[in-house]
Amino acid sequence: GSTEAGWKFDNSYEDLPEFFYSKVEPTHVKDPEIRVLNHALLQSLGLAAISKTEMLGVFSGNKMPEGTQSISQAYAGHQFGNFTMLGDGRAVLIGEQLTPAGDKFDLQLKGAGKTPYSRGGDGRATLGPMLREYIISEAMYQLGIPTSRSLAVVTTGEEVRREVELPGAILTRVASSHLRFGTFQYAAAFGEEDDIKQLADYAIKRHYPTLKSKPNPYLSLIKEVVNRQGKLIVKWQLVGFIHGVMNTDNMTISGETIDYGPCAFMDEYDPATVFSSIDIQGRYAYGNQPNIGGWNLARFAESLLPILHDEEERALELAQGAIEEFSDIFYAEWIKGMRRKLGLFNEEQEDEKLIEELLQLMQQYNADYTNTFRALTFHQTNSQVLFERDEFKKWQTKWKQRRERQAESEEEVLDLMKKSNPAVIPRNHLVEEAIEAAVTKEDDSVMKNLLDILADPYAHTKEQVEYAALPPKSKRPQQTFCGT
Ligand code: AMP
Ligand code: MG
Ligand code: MG
Repeated sequence: GSTEAGWKFDNSYEDLPEFFYSKVEPTHVKDPEIRVLNHALLQSLGLAAISKTEMLGVFSGNKMPEGTQSISQAYAGHQFGNFTMLGDGRAVLIGEQLTPAGDKFDLQLKGAGKTPYSRGGDGRATLGPMLREYIISEAMYQLGIPTSRSLAVVTTGEEVRREVELPGAILTRVASSHLRFGTFQYAAAFGEEDDIKQLADYAIKRHYPTLKSKPNPYLSLIKEVVNRQGKLIVKWQLVGFIHGVMNTDNMTISGETIDYGPCAFMDEYDPATVFSSIDIQGRYAYGNQPNIGGWNLARFAESLLPILHDEEERALELAQGAIEEFSDIFYAEWIKGMRRKLGLFNEEQEDEKLIEELLQLMQQYNADYTNTFRALTFHQTNSQVLFERDEFKKWQTKWKQRRERQAESEEEVLDLMKKSNPAVIPRNHLVEEAIEAAVTKEDDSVMKNLLDILADPYAHTKEQVEYAALPPKSKRPQQTFCGT
């Protein structure tokens, strides 16, 4: 084992032209206090031996570790379809931590004060939304979905003015990088061709080093990002996750989920489900996430056109060809994932129809997405209206016959379904309850219980089944806010 422990920073982003970032120190805060700390993540980052005092200093932005230069990153992006200059308006990258296992992760403080990209904003964040990001990003990680993670939430001891005064907080976010589609759009819109090239070379070196030797590394980069994003969005669909703000600045080159704002998990199955209070048109509705994923990828590919090929027309053809692969990748992964959710090992022509029929019935009878698949897993089909309908019983017979046509035993089916259908997800009402206790009563125990329950979502323990019981719909928040 490695005895190396402690901060071990690289600042490779600063090898890019200064056009891409600004040197920024976090603004000091009055009276920091650690509210939640991710011990397992500290361990894997090689930071478990750091003293609490030092953690408090670093995670509040009051004391940067030795040997690093903190920065804020420049980027642009399409927000609800409109192109805008953005940048880290309230985030400071402490540095890139080199882990004992040899990986590299950005450590970023979110809510660390004003930066050159703050525009009208105060650079600050409040406790509720930072705990929300902590809970949901950790739940996503435990569900097996590529995501940024959360290392700590620290309160600042300062009030932040929103509609009312709220407790200020800083989240330490960990991601394999913060390279966004919007970083490339920024280079394409405001930089020179060489800036695009340097950024693309950096992204390849950092995330996909084997692409360097391909005949056209930049085309291969687009293809790889199409592949990662396609697989990522399928994973969202399979657990009913709705990102809520799929703006191009919130989409990563690494294929990790980032920027947990008004995101939420769907209860009743309905492709039109939207939680975000600002998504009036349903642009980022559950059923629209794959389309938007493709649209976003097209914006990413566009920003690489100048370096794809010397001839403009040829560059466009290459980019289009790569983007067109998205729907095939998405479909192939989706049907694979849905088969697993239904315990199907082999492939049959009619599988898509079987899946679609179930989804249609779920929509028609307002069936809860997560609990339906859990009920099917354990053949406990007695808890919802859906299960009483004749149409469902007919479907159930077809599903049974389908399972009988495969070689695997019912035990193997159960195993596969348990691994593919979570017992618990971070439901809105649970997340809200946890945040409410932490913010208004400084009681973090509700959140800590929830984090424990979410830590092994495929375990299907008795306690998890209790958490899966739904309160009446009137007690379940139907709207989430772009929390700041
Ligand atoms: P988001 O909706 O989280 O993707 O944020 C959009 C943009 O607004 C990003 O450039 C953020 O850095 C910026 N932003 C959000 N909140 C603040 C704030 N309180 N102060 C300054 N910038 C902010
Ligand atoms: Mg963002
Ligand atoms: Mg955000």
